[in-house]
Amino acid sequence: MELSSKKLEKAVNEMAQLPGIGKRTALRLVLHLLKQPKEQTQFLAEALQNMREEIKFCNNCNTLSDNDICEICANPKRDKSIICVVEDIRDVMAIENTGLYKGLYHVLGGRISPIDGIGPSQLSIFPIVEKVKAGEVKELIFALSSTMEGDTTNFYIYKQIQEYSINVSTIARGIAIGDELEYTDEVTLGRSLLHRIPFEMSIKNA
Ligand SMILES: [Zn+2]
Repeated sequence: MELSSKKLEKAVNEMAQLPGIGKRTALRLVLHLLKQPKEQTQFLAEALQNMREEIKFCNNCNTLSDNDICEICANPKRDKSIICVVEDIRDVMAIENTGLYKGLYHVLGGRISPIDGIGPSQLSIFPIVEKVKAGEVKELIFALSSTMEGDTTNFYIYKQIQEYSINVSTIARGIAIGDELEYTDEVTLGRSLLHRIPFEMSIKNA
């Protein structure tokens, strides 16, 4: 795309680096910003820059956070003995939106996928095992997407903690195979959390 302004072209090219944004959409967004007051672009740029520079991972659950401990982990009303294991922050948001879960989370940062070169050591699995070992956990709920990688990850973690006497459950699947948690509607997700099943049962049925 050749444009009449190199500055415009550069902005469009940068915007088009984002996933799902083609050059046309990028141009539309950039032209939109040009029509807005200058401050609007400044707020956007500042928000992005601050987010990129200052955001951290929660020391306890590995989700994105402004502080060393995230708001969810720091909330005294949350039940610290229940941990829901998810892939990323989008899953945390999806489950939070159901309003039905009062425990904590643990964000793995992905799932085991040998094809993509992602092994257990690249994920935040060790801290979960440590928490279970320390006797802090009564129940672990697997809420990973029902893909082969999700199942492999569940099973890997399960093997590490099997010897400890805690409840291990998995969200009930009203969710079709391969569906990502993020796209499941709140009612279905809420129901599948409430009707979670013991993990052992889920592997016997597989
Ligand atoms: Zn946290």
